[in-house]
Amino acid sequence: MSEPRVFFPGSTIGVMGGGQLGRMFAIAARRMGYRVHTFSPDEDTPTGQLADREVAARYDDEAAVRDFARGVDVLTFEFENIPVQTVEWAAECCVVRPSAKVLHVCQHRLREKEFLDQAGVPLPGFQAVGSAGDLAAAVAELGLPAVLKTAAFGYDGKGQRKIAPGDNLVEAWAPFAGTGAVLEQFVRFEKEVSVLVARGVDGRTATYPVCENVHRNHILDVTIVPANIAPAAAERACALAVRIAEQLDLVGLLAVEMFLLADGGILINELAPRPHNSGHFSFDASATSQFEQQLRAVCGLPLGNTDSLCPSAMVNLLGDVWAGGEPDWAAVLAMPDVKLHLYGKAEPRAGRKMGHLVAFGATTEEAAARALAARSALKA
Ligand code: AMP
Repeated sequence: MSEPRVFFPGSTIGVMGGGQLGRMFAIAARRMGYRVHTFSPDEDTPTGQLADREVAARYDDEAAVRDFARGVDVLTFEFENIPVQTVEWAAECCVVRPSAKVLHVCQHRLREKEFLDQAGVPLPGFQAVGSAGDLAAAVAELGLPAVLKTAAFGYDGKGQRKIAPGDNLVEAWAPFAGTGAVLEQFVRFEKEVSVLVARGVDGRTATYPVCENVHRNHILDVTIVPANIAPAAAERACALAVRIAEQLDLVGLLAVEMFLLADGGILINELAPRPHNSGHFSFDASATSQFEQQLRAVCGLPLGNTDSLCPSAMVNLLGDVWAGGEPDWAAVLAMPDVKLHLYGKAEPRAGRKMGHLVAFGATTEEAAARALAARSALKA
């Protein structure tokens, strides 16, 4: 077998997807002397604003995909819901990392769960559901409450519904009809945590300190790092993430979302084979950001140091922050331990991720208090 290819600064990286994750990747890549091209169906995207070249075309436009791939050295993703066919076309024209196989597993909830199950990784009980009859059978098997989720294209709680005892299952199924779905046991978790793990072409891995995540309306709201959990639990969480990356034969970055149970047990919720919202702290608070780490991994270069420089907290800024008019940026920029990130999105719709704040502190409690105070100050 030939040696895996290495791409040094000066090379051109293609990014599929045009969102904020690609934007921050582009900042990290350009800082290190790489060129960045981005491909998505839209124009003036958060990634495109920072890229050397932005291509707006559909993912099923084979000629456009091949042309884009021929213009880059290595292609990666900031968004996993890219049709696998698109990735296969690209892979005939350039190196693609992570592989189409990783995307195929991670873009479909049922495939992902079956993969994790076969890998012997603990996860909430689940059943595939394709009809109201299947749903009744799955409920009988798993019990209630449970969560019904679409198999494909779900994120931030979209395409999900909690099912409680007494709910009418035919009605609950109706919005899911025609789609594949998964019923999952409802988990009474103590905490939600995530682990970012990078894996290089040589199989070496590096994990970041465990992130502790609080969601609001199913969307990530606050992350503190390091998570306030027992060291043994943190060690197990990182070991699980490494095991999953190895089983996937990943080259790149993987975020593993987990539920931590009161008895110290861990169940895997879902995977994202790319940088993750919970890893945004790393841009300001780590020796190597998750975006630089993705770059290093996909270019076949040594992975960077994942140590935190200090305790930190991240809060998301959704479009709701704009509800009362232009946020008070000056108030936040006057705060010495807070960093502002905005994604260049023109329309601040409610629930839309527009930016985030990262705050530092002597402790995570102090960092979280600063981050929350800063977000409140924006709306004053
Ligand atoms: P997901 O899009 O699957 O990550 O779900 C978004 C959020 O919904 C998670 O971060 C949890 O807060 C919640 N959630 C999802 N699945 C479950 C479950 N099986 N039990 C309890 N809460 C869940």
